[in-house]
Amino acid sequence: MIAKSMESYVKGSSAIRAMFEEGAKLAKIYGRENVYDFSLGNPNVAPPEEIKQSIIDILEAEEPTFVHGYMNNAGYEDVRNTIAQHLNKLHGTQFTEKNILMTVGAAGGLNVTFKTLIDPEDEVIAFAPYFGEYRSYAANYGANLVVIPPNLPTFQPDLNKLAQSITAKTKAIIINSPNNPTGIVYSEETIKQMAQILTDKEKEFGTDIYLIADEPYRELAYDGVSVPYVTKYYKNTIVGYSYSKSLSLPGERIGYLVMPDELSDFENIISAATTANRILGFVNAPSIMQRVVARCINSAVDVNIYNKNRETLYNGLIEMGYECIKPEGAFYLFVKSPIEDEAEFCNMAKEHRVLIVPGSSFACPGYIRMAYCVSYDTIIGALPQMKKVMDEVKNGATKK
Ligand code: PLP
Repeated sequence: MIAKSMESYVKGSSAIRAMFEEGAKLAKIYGRENVYDFSLGNPNVAPPEEIKQSIIDILEAEEPTFVHGYMNNAGYEDVRNTIAQHLNKLHGTQFTEKNILMTVGAAGGLNVTFKTLIDPEDEVIAFAPYFGEYRSYAANYGANLVVIPPNLPTFQPDLNKLAQSITAKTKAIIINSPNNPTGIVYSEETIKQMAQILTDKEKEFGTDIYLIADEPYRELAYDGVSVPYVTKYYKNTIVGYSYSKSLSLPGERIGYLVMPDELSDFENIISAATTANRILGFVNAPSIMQRVVARCINSAVDVNIYNKNRETLYNGLIEMGYECIKPEGAFYLFVKSPIEDEAEFCNMAKEHRVLIVPGSSFACPGYIRMAYCVSYDTIIGALPQMKKVMDEVKNGATKK
């Protein structure tokens, strides 16, 4: 028998994966090219060519026992130093390798952060809609996830509600910009106001409140929009970064945490996080991938490919009468369901071989998410299908 504590995770985490598996089934029946699968944030843009070359170079040129061996649980020092210098160049920060901990993707980094900070009954605040795994991660360490309801129609964080939600038990706030599932980016003004609220509340309660910035989509921003670097605005910030999307390497499980010197209890946090990396079973981030990302520090995927998808899908859906905020980053559209029950709408779309995910997976019912990290052909093929679904809605042809 499985542990009772696992039962709710298993039930709760299956909606997106279930849709993905549904896609595989439909593909067998109708052919892969006739199924329009927008269910999963799995990048369709190939990693930059230099990734492959650097793997080859590392295997040929570097000492095998070094490349395949254990290292400091925080990661190779030279890799962490390269990342720190890169961040300093981009953001005018002053990090050293001491501030960087290599992780098993963003998910590994978030788990390390929670393990480091959270005692049972601590509160972690998240803004809906949010990446559904936050709930499981928080629960895994006994935290209560306090959810601030969606701020419609902009989906910008509701800062008044944030101020009202912070208590003496608040240990952390988690933010994600560019955002999954809405694609919105938090402006500098928003980050500044948020920082002021947290500073005031730390004083009021005499506590440390950590701001966790989950940033796997940092590089995926459009129309020249800038994504503020949060450590510059609030001293108790921990940044979680990942190469899953920025270099299209989600299966390789590589990312890092940034823990600035200014953090309250800095030395203890660093050693606790390094220990957490080990005792959660990661031990260290994958060794070859650490060396790859350092060699490819200036590489990036071609964001223009996602941008073209974004423009075509967004404009196409708006023309049909769908309502949606135009995303400024990441690769998701968060569309208002034209009928109240968005799960039913997802079923209607599935009947037309379009796979999308209900907003309730992100604590935001009434909306659906489309991950547009798909081929352009998929976008073009899906649009007429989405039109048919809208026509059915207009004709009152829901199954209710
Ligand atoms: N955080 C957010 C907001 C995500 O969307 C994802 C993945 O989709 C993750 C974290 C996990 O990323 P990784 O694959 O790097 O663990």
